[in-house]
Amino acid sequence: MDNLYKNILDFTNRHNSCPFCKSPLDYLFTNYIGFKSNGSAIISSSLSSGLFYFNMKNYKINLMINAENNLLEVLNYSESDNMSHIKNFLEQLGPHVEAYCTNDKCDSIYSYSIRTDLFRFKLTDFKNKLGMNPFIMDSETFIIDNFWIKNDWIEDSLKIYKKNDESGPVIGKLLKLNNLHADVVKQKIMTLISFY
Ligand SMILES: [Zn+2]
Repeated sequence: MDNLYKNILDFTNRHNSCPFCKSPLDYLFTNYIGFKSNGSAIISSSLSSGLFYFNMKNYKINLMINAENNLLEVLNYSESDNMSHIKNFLEQLGPHVEAYCTNDKCDSIYSYSIRTDLFRFKLTDFKNKLGMNPFIMDSETFIIDNFWIKNDWIEDSLKIYKKNDESGPVIGKLLKLNNLHADVVKQKIMTLISFY
């Protein structure tokens, strides 16, 4: 299946550069945007050497996700930690990976981002580790001129919203951005917008 990723490494390999400027992406393990602590995301961890490190203060635990084998490990595990509770709490936060273009100039123009669907975890034979199920992509978003564009992988469609315009989006076919030159992407969007 085109939109199924067996692990985070599979995702970062298949989406390894910005479709507009080909700069590398910065990958962030984070939570659903609505859940914040003191105004910022509860979880926000950049991928470094194939690993994400973060902590969950209410459980006083430090965690590590290995992008290659999909194992989430409690680094300071103690026998009183309940992995089922940790799993449920984590899933309620809406965990996923978002990636952004690392080229500031490109980011200020296109503001490209890509995000996975929410992750689901499972208990394993290791007392201090959870496994992570394969996942799908949620969406890519970017800006072209006055338009905010969402490539919606779950609904298999492209949605184009005009800034400061309440009317519904123009809907087209999902764009496989990785296979297209940036100029072609822009041309396709402009053609769709011209009927707007
Ligand atoms: Zn870029």
